[in-house]
Amino acid sequence: MVQGVSTVKHVVAIASGKGGVGKSTVSVNLAVAAAQLGFKAGLLDADIYGPSQARLLGVADGVMPEVVEEKIFLPIEAQGVASMSMAFLTREKTAMVWRGPMASGALQQMIESTRWGDLDVLFVDMPPGTGDIQLTLSQRTQLSGVVVVTTPQDIALIDARRAVEMFNKVSVPVLGMIQNMATHVCSNCGHEDPIFGSEGGENLANEYDSRLLANIPLSRRIRETSDAGEPIVLAEPDNAGALAYRDAASVIMASLDKAARPAAPTISMTD
Ligand code: ADP
Repeated sequence: MVQGVSTVKHVVAIASGKGGVGKSTVSVNLAVAAAQLGFKAGLLDADIYGPSQARLLGVADGVMPEVVEEKIFLPIEAQGVASMSMAFLTREKTAMVWRGPMASGALQQMIESTRWGDLDVLFVDMPPGTGDIQLTLSQRTQLSGVVVVTTPQDIALIDARRAVEMFNKVSVPVLGMIQNMATHVCSNCGHEDPIFGSEGGENLANEYDSRLLANIPLSRRIRETSDAGEPIVLAEPDNAGALAYRDAASVIMASLDKAARPAAPTISMTD
């Protein structure tokens, strides 16, 4: 039986320019939401240096994937999704002290040595930025598309723009943007406060003729359910944030079915 992504219908990268904008939280909620919608979904944590999906999926520190035929990993099934992460191969406090090519190699090995099985979609939680790992993934897997996560703040949008430009250069379609932490609703008085601004994600989507897939509020329950290892789409399916994640997953899955899978891009950088 084969391993790698040849049995996966669509590979979708979740990217951001900047770290800390909520990309891992979006990735796990989209994957679990896709599973709730009836799709066979997987989640690859490509954040080699700071893997967080073990915690977000509630997989205990020290639980390792089963190895078959000596060198093939079976993904860990958690919260309804097939998952693989460097976090499953190391302990929580291990620091990954690797140079870029080693990290890219580790990612490549994780992709190629995992027997994902038949999946409708594999979401890839990318590390922030536009470096080695992003290029490796674009070159080694046929990405059906990328979703860019940003907060509405200028400093995040500048880096989100870089991410969009990078994926445009390697011919990976941008499926849309997700704006995170847009408004905070006070749990005492209900007052809505756009702490990081409110329209940046929409403006970014317009700038690139793309679309805003979701506007996720800054919510204490999103943070608490993440920390507890049960994504909010499962823990509180009627929460406003959970509904927004699920709507986004549904639009993404519909757009993938329409889009033909693009050929692997060739990389050429001119400016
Ligand atoms: P990234 O993957 O971009 O580095 P994370 O998903 O790890 O970001 O999120 C960074 C922190 O912000 C985490 O503590 C996470 O629980 C929290 N967080 C993410 N999205 C939200 C949200 N909408 N509301 C509240 N906290 C959030």
